[in-house]
Amino acid sequence: MNSDSKNSVLIIGGGLIGLSIAYEFARNKFKVEVLSKNRSESAGFVAAGMLATHAEGLEDELLELGQESQKLIPEWIKNIEKDSGINCGLKKCGIVVPFRNIEDLKHFPTYKFGKYLNKKCLGQEIIGINTNWKHGLLFEQDGQIDNRRRLMRALERACSLHDVKFQEGGDVKELLLEKNKIVGVKVLNATGEIQEITCSKAILCCGAWSKKVLKDLPIFPVKGQMLSIQGPSNFIKRVLFGPHTYLVPREDGLIIVGATVENNAEFNKGNTPKGIQKLQEGIQSLLPEAINWPQMEHWWGFRPCTPDLKPIIGKSNIKNLYLATGHYRNGVLFSAITSKIILKLIKESNLNNNEINFLEKFSFDRFKK
Ligand SMILES: Cc1cc2nc3c(=O)[nH]c(=O)nc-3n(C[C@H](O)[C@H](O)[C@H](O)COP(=O)(O)OP(=O)(O)OC[C@H]3O[C@@H](n4cnc5c(N)ncnc54)[C@H](O)[C@@H]3O)c2cc1C
Repeated sequence: MNSDSKNSVLIIGGGLIGLSIAYEFARNKFKVEVLSKNRSESAGFVAAGMLATHAEGLEDELLELGQESQKLIPEWIKNIEKDSGINCGLKKCGIVVPFRNIEDLKHFPTYKFGKYLNKKCLGQEIIGINTNWKHGLLFEQDGQIDNRRRLMRALERACSLHDVKFQEGGDVKELLLEKNKIVGVKVLNATGEIQEITCSKAILCCGAWSKKVLKDLPIFPVKGQMLSIQGPSNFIKRVLFGPHTYLVPREDGLIIVGATVENNAEFNKGNTPKGIQKLQEGIQSLLPEAINWPQMEHWWGFRPCTPDLKPIIGKSNIKNLYLATGHYRNGVLFSAITSKIILKLIKESNLNNNEINFLEKFSFDRFKK
């Protein structure tokens, strides 16, 4: 890559956020190169794909970020689908959050955005729901994308068609700096050789592994285990978002069941009997008859987490190195807004008040105080 080129950008990490940003820049006529250690470990292939701004009970600036991103997603997905020819499975199917008592429901942070469901209505929305649940909130504005089977591939294809250069197996080992400005990276490539790649600017999007590339980043992995079951198609139409488990029904009857939240698992790979048992208990507590439906797949992955559970989006301490990481449980939801903000920041386009606010609230600087 020509290091003098104004319109070129190097993306470190080809997961969900890296691909989303690569696509945004490529569509805006940038020359884009993506270095990706291992595409299959990306949490982008792991996530349930919920767009759960309200069902997650997000608050303050995270709620605003989710709401802004949800506004952008239909158009963003339309472009990705047009360019890739792949349907991404975007559905505004609504998400139901069940409660055992009315007090918990009234204290839910996004209570005012939901539609109240009494026990009868809850049973009509989710046929077969465990009768222990007495109330519910329906967030009709929330939905899902089929990230695992569709969105990730669609982004890869759309990027390729926009001439994004990929180096799969490119493990960035070191940032090359001159006078505190990034000028390149040292990469261990797929054939085991160390290679130097120059750049005029770079964006670090290494998800849960980000701290390994830039040690100042307060990012750590939070492991999540998942499984899928095959139900009758259209048996449940809305996502059911319980306190410890959620069920995400795809159109063909496949139901994604997630997820454990393991803060101390570090980067330990694999499903565990305890993890799978927790998910099964979760199915039983939400939709008892689904416990008999055939299990299809088990998998796991690592959410990129920060101490305040909020992402880091914007500038780093190093000139021309930008950060887009730490999206924790909501990277699918936040991908559209993150890529838009990073593009505008680097292009020095006019940022609107919301975007300026997000850059301030999600800046790396907040960890220096
Ligand atoms: C179990 C689970 C369920 C989830 N469910 C949802 C959900 O329903 N809705 C939602 O919005 N979000 C969800 N998420 C969160 C979402 O998946 C993440 O926030 C998002 O994928 C983060 O994207 P990322 O690109 O930062 O990281 P990733 O997608 O993990 O990608 C990081 C990439 O960087 C690469 N990399 C790492 N180190 C290097 C290096 N040194 N050099 C080059 N490349 C490197 C990795 O190989 C990887 O491919 C879930 C996550 C998990 C784990």
